[in-house]
Amino acid sequence: MNYKVAVISGDGIGPEIVREAKKVLDAVAEKYGHSFQYKEVLMGGASIDVHGVPLTEEAITACKNADAVLMGSIGGNTSTSPWYQLPPEKRPEAGLLKLRKSLNLFANVRPALLYQELKAACPLKDEVIGNGFDLVIMRELTGGLYFGERKTIEENGIRKACDTLTYDETEIRRVAKRAFDIARKRRKKVTSVDKANVLDSSRLWRKVVEEVAKDYPEVTLEHMLVDNCAMQLVKDPAQFDVVLTENMFGDILSDEASMITGSIGMLASASLNNTKFGLYEPSGGSAPDIAGKNIANPIATILSAAMMLRFSFDLDKEADAIEAAVQKVLTEGYRTGDIMSDGCKQVNTDEMGDCIAARI
Ligand code: NAD
Repeated sequence: MNYKVAVISGDGIGPEIVREAKKVLDAVAEKYGHSFQYKEVLMGGASIDVHGVPLTEEAITACKNADAVLMGSIGGNTSTSPWYQLPPEKRPEAGLLKLRKSLNLFANVRPALLYQELKAACPLKDEVIGNGFDLVIMRELTGGLYFGERKTIEENGIRKACDTLTYDETEIRRVAKRAFDIARKRRKKVTSVDKANVLDSSRLWRKVVEEVAKDYPEVTLEHMLVDNCAMQLVKDPAQFDVVLTENMFGDILSDEASMITGSIGMLASASLNNTKFGLYEPSGGSAPDIAGKNIANPIATILSAAMMLRFSFDLDKEADAIEAAVQKVLTEGYRTGDIMSDGCKQVNTDEMGDCIAARI
């Protein structure tokens, strides 16, 4: 099959890590008889430099015309880069928010998997890690507090600010379905996280998730309050399979979950809408401190490409092949600098890509 992939290399380490993901995709194409047709799209600082804005309408159209989007990362050093002298709506990150909204990417999926080989990088104690953990955070991405009405006013000389947390049942239902669909292909458990003891939006969240659960009798549903979930993630992460939650809780919990895996350079992510379309990117940023040095870890981007094959193209066997190749390379002891430990073989960005592509 032929697949059209819009590629946003972006800024900082973006072009280096995306180059390696394309190398691995091309190895998959050759082995399994597919072809990936790439269309380069500018976003973030790279777009500001050329067009004066972080995302053009043409760029949005190019993404819409593709079967999926593969992205590196965008943004620069927020203290020194001239991009951050611009008004907020013209800065690199504004491009990404606009693209998510334009493509209706309401479901953000972030796996947090601890590789046995990288156990030393995990900040948790051995007795907590046990046999490791493998969980997925499903975060609602286009609603809630970050997209509600906000204002700052002054009343009787007192400054006052207000943000609004709103969800309607359709927004909750569509992301919940996505979570149950993924759980069905995994260990069949959804933990829905809310603050239903306090918030009305959480009480509606809980009701709608329970309604959706009725269509998935093979999946176990449990509810957990967000404060408890924050504790449980560091106390017993192996209890989780799919964690489903709203935008702000998901923002915080997904960073906590990535932290306990020990390396940001290993974590993939997908942002999905209600079709097969998705945007796939590493969880980390553009790492301006190491950009252009050929030392960034490309594995998160390579694993994001594997998620693209699985979720957007239904190429499960090919996605498995990429994940197995990553596992093999780690078992054989190859490491980029960020995950290096004694006795391993240190490689740079393109050597890591070569190693993984060769094992497809
Ligand atoms: P960052 O994730 O870019 O970097 C944090 C630390 O992790 C740095 O030390 C960096 O060197 C390291 N790191 C990140 N990815 C790595 C990789 N693949 N291999 C090895 N080391 C890696 O976060 P930051 O420094 O806070 O942000 C830098 C820029 O990235 C900012 O402009 C920020 O807005 C942007 N950002 C973009 C995205 C995105 O594109 N989705 C996400 C987060 C941050």
